[in-house]
Amino acid sequence: MPEADKPIFERLALIGVGLIGSSIARAARQRGLVQTIAASARSEATRRRVAELKLADQVFDTNAEAAKDADLVIVCVPVGACGAVAVEIGPVLKPGAVVSDVGSVKAAIIHDMAPHLPKSVHFVPAHPVAGTEHSGPDAGFAELFDNRWCILTPVNGTDPEAVERLKAFWEALGSNVEIMDAQHHDMVLAITSHVPHLIAYNIVHTAEHLQQVTESEVIKFSAGGFRDFTRIAASDPTMWRDVFLHNKEAVLEMLGRFSEDLAVLTRAIRYGDGKTLFDLFTRTRAIRRSIIEVGQETAEPDFGRKHGVKEPPAPLPRPYASD
Ligand code: NAP
Repeated sequence: MPEADKPIFERLALIGVGLIGSSIARAARQRGLVQTIAASARSEATRRRVAELKLADQVFDTNAEAAKDADLVIVCVPVGACGAVAVEIGPVLKPGAVVSDVGSVKAAIIHDMAPHLPKSVHFVPAHPVAGTEHSGPDAGFAELFDNRWCILTPVNGTDPEAVERLKAFWEALGSNVEIMDAQHHDMVLAITSHVPHLIAYNIVHTAEHLQQVTESEVIKFSAGGFRDFTRIAASDPTMWRDVFLHNKEAVLEMLGRFSEDLAVLTRAIRYGDGKTLFDLFTRTRAIRRSIIEVGQETAEPDFGRKHGVKEPPAPLPRPYASD
């Protein structure tokens, strides 16, 4: 990714520096997209780590200090914490600043943040559809957003120039940018991300309950498909609790449809209806192929895992965190 000719924003403030915040910091710095980075994080341990990793030029104890004087403020905390951050930073924001976030749910964040932001700033909510199951400032990397989507959900009446500037910023971070309505975003993400996470959490939970199976057999035979669910089910509990609490309607709607379709499959199995099963599995295989074709997944077998190479286990997330 080439460096920008000149910074897109002078001063960037990151409120919260975990996986997403630290990836933005790394990519923005590496690609020359901002002149200065200010940051704040909730815990002393994270602030210390952000300073050690040199992710920001200045690390502040309070969110208000970090946000003051910034031209672009990006709130990178769990969805349920965004409203309280807006209350804190609202009074100190610089007129003309662009204020954004990275939350995985959009309508609830607009509802919680917008009333606390002054009319003099431009609020442009965003969601980078990119991530891993790891958390904290050590987990981030500059390439996280490369060729991934970032969805902007500005409300009606937002200054188009502010939207364009944020779009240019995310494109320079490596993303493809799409603009859509917040409610539409929440519906699409409910089926493509939120419900799949819920299914993964649930299947791992069910296996855990089947004590006689989990003792050793689940680990031993996990490559049969279970292992891929466990990766998703290792995602951050705070983040995902907030996603489900704040995208309730869309998730419940999609879960309803999912249950109906599951009933069709259950029935096909019960009555030996192989044609229904075969036809459905053929259609889903085509969907996998189209995801590979648009570059959102590797075509390598088994997700490109190297067989025969024993990799050391990933470090436990956030060993330094106090909570
Ligand atoms: P993360 O690695 O856990 O980092 C979260 C950051 O928020 C940390 O700096 C944490 O501070 C801070 N924080 C946590 N609770 C807070 C609270 N109640 N008040 C203020 N600050 C708080 O999380 P992340 O994966 O970067 O996720 C951040 C946001 O990005 C979430 O809204 C999530 O929905 C969204 N997102 C995540 C992914 C993903 O795959 N992870 C993808 C796209 C979007 P401490 O470290 O001091 O606790």
